[in-house]
Amino acid sequence: MDMKIAVIRGDGIGPEIVNEAIKVLDRVCSVYSHKIDYTDVLMGGASIDVHGTSLTDEAIETCKASDAVLMGSIGGDPNTSPWYKIEPSKRPEAGLLKIRKSLNLFANLRPAVLFPQLADACPLKREMADKGFDMLIMRELTGGLYFGERKTVTENGIVTAIDTLKYSETEIRRIAIKAFEVARARKNKVTSVDKANVLDSSRLWRKTVNEVAEDYPDVTLEHMLVDNCAMQLVKDPTQFDVILTENMFGDILSDEASMVTGSIGMLASASMNDSKFGLYEPSHGSAPDIAGLNIANPLATILSAAMMLRFSFGLGNEADAIERAINKVLDEGFRTGDIFVEGLKKVSCSQMGDLVTERI
Ligand code: NAD
Repeated sequence: MDMKIAVIRGDGIGPEIVNEAIKVLDRVCSVYSHKIDYTDVLMGGASIDVHGTSLTDEAIETCKASDAVLMGSIGGDPNTSPWYKIEPSKRPEAGLLKIRKSLNLFANLRPAVLFPQLADACPLKREMADKGFDMLIMRELTGGLYFGERKTVTENGIVTAIDTLKYSETEIRRIAIKAFEVARARKNKVTSVDKANVLDSSRLWRKTVNEVAEDYPDVTLEHMLVDNCAMQLVKDPTQFDVILTENMFGDILSDEASMVTGSIGMLASASMNDSKFGLYEPSHGSAPDIAGLNIANPLATILSAAMMLRFSFGLGNEADAIERAINKVLDEGFRTGDIFVEGLKKVSCSQMGDLVTERI
């Protein structure tokens, strides 16, 4: 297969971890006879340095002309980086919101998996960690509070800020369909998370999800309030398969789910539109504190590349091969610093990429 991939190396550890993912993809291409044409695209601080803004229209066009986008992570330390001294609409994170909206990436898929080899890193009780868990958070990414109207006004002499949380039936329906489809390929369960006891948008969310569920009688649907879900994730994460939720709840819950695995450097993420097009990136940020030291964990980015092969190109065997190679490397006791425990073998970012590549 011929694949056209736009590559956003980004900032901080971004270029280091993307290098390793490309190493692995190149190996997959040579073993399985595929060809990848990579085009570099600037985004985040790297784009601000060159263009004065975090994402240009040309960069978006290059992404649109590709089959998928592979991304490291963008951003710097907001307290010290000059990228945060410019107007907010040009800062690194504005690029993220713009690319999601421009490419219509409304569905964010974030697996939160506790690898059995990393049970020690899990902050939960041992009996829970030993059970292991494997859930996927399906977060709506282009609607809700982050994209609603906002303003700061002075009312009766008091400065007041207003953000708007708005969802249409159409926006809810399309993400719900994605969640049920993904659940069918997993353990056939969707937990839809909302705040229907308070919010109108949540009541519409619940009603629409119930309607979509009628087309998926083989998938179990349950509804959960977001505050309860935040507790259940810590109490018993094994109960979840696919968690379906709106933008802001998903933002918070997916970070919580990642922390429960104990290893943020292991968690992949995909943002997809209606077609097979997607943007694949690790769940973590650009880790400016360890940038350039060759100690970052590249496995989240490598796992994101595996998701890209599976979801955008239908190459399930190749994705399985990457995941098997990662499991083998972990079984053999190799760890980057973030997941290292005494007695195992500590390796650098590039060594981890080499080890995975060699096992494909
Ligand atoms: P972060 O995820 O970058 O780092 C949090 C902690 O985890 C740090 O101690 C870091 O060293 C560590 N860490 C993260 N990834 C790691 C890896 N692969 N290997 C080893 N250790 C790792 O979060 P932050 O510090 O809150 O944010 C830093 C920057 O990243 C900010 O500018 C933020 O806006 C940006 N950010 C970008 C994205 C994205 O590009 N999608 C997402 C989140 C944060």
